[in-house]
Parts: sequence; C-alpha cells; structure tokens
Amino acid sequence: MIRSISAVLISGILKKCPNCGKGNIYSKYLKVNDHCIKCSEELYSYRTDDFGPWLSIIMGGHIIVPLVLWVEQDYALDLWLQALIWIPLTILTVLFLLPISKSICLSILWRLKMKNNQDNQEK
Ligand SMILES: [Zn+2]
Repeated sequence: MIRSISAVLISGILKKCPNCGKGNIYSKYLKVNDHCIKCSEELYSYRTDDFGPWLSIIMGGHIIVPLVLWVEQDYALDLWLQALIWIPLTILTVLFLLPISKSICLSILWRLKMKNNQDNQEK
C-alpha cells in the first residue's frame, strides 16, 4: 500500500516512520534507526545529507526574522539586549527544528524511493 504524500509528510513532521506512521525514526537526537521498530521498514538507506539542516535554517529564519523586525520596529531595544535574546533563541529554534526537518526529508526520500545507492557504486 502506498501512503499519500500528505500522510508521509505528517509522519515526517511527527518524526514517525514514513511507512507505518507509528514507530519513531530516531533512537537519539538525530540518530536514525536502521529499521522501524513497528513495521521493520528499512530506514538506514535514506541519506538526507545536508538538506535537513538547510531546511531547518530556512524554517527558523522564517520564524525568527519577522520577530526580530517586529521587536525592532515596536520596541527598538538596545543592540546588546537584542543579541542576548535573538542569538540563543535562533540557535534553540534551529536545534528544535533540525530533527523535524531531517525527518521530513527522510519521509520525502522514502516516498520518492530515493535510496542511497552508494553501496552499488562501490562494487
Ligand atoms: Zn514503520
């Protein structure tokens, strides 16, 4: 059974297996399980490389930049205070979004059946 792209993306946002939507794909913060613990779907062969970090920066930027502009326009805080607020908030936002964006990327790769074929190239 092929899952719809919307169901696969929701599984990605929830950091769940793209095949069954139930098993967690991570064993640690960014460590992808080799196989789904619920349905045994192979997960290790989908390499997201740097697309996950790239996507988390894009999403984090779209959250943080409007907030920075709003605070600057309405409150005009001192620069040292803004740096004290925005730098840690940006880092925390991106670190929060990173596993979600990596999971979304893995789900898209799974849906498109884009497995890493590096093993085949080495032979
Ligand atoms: Zn599964």
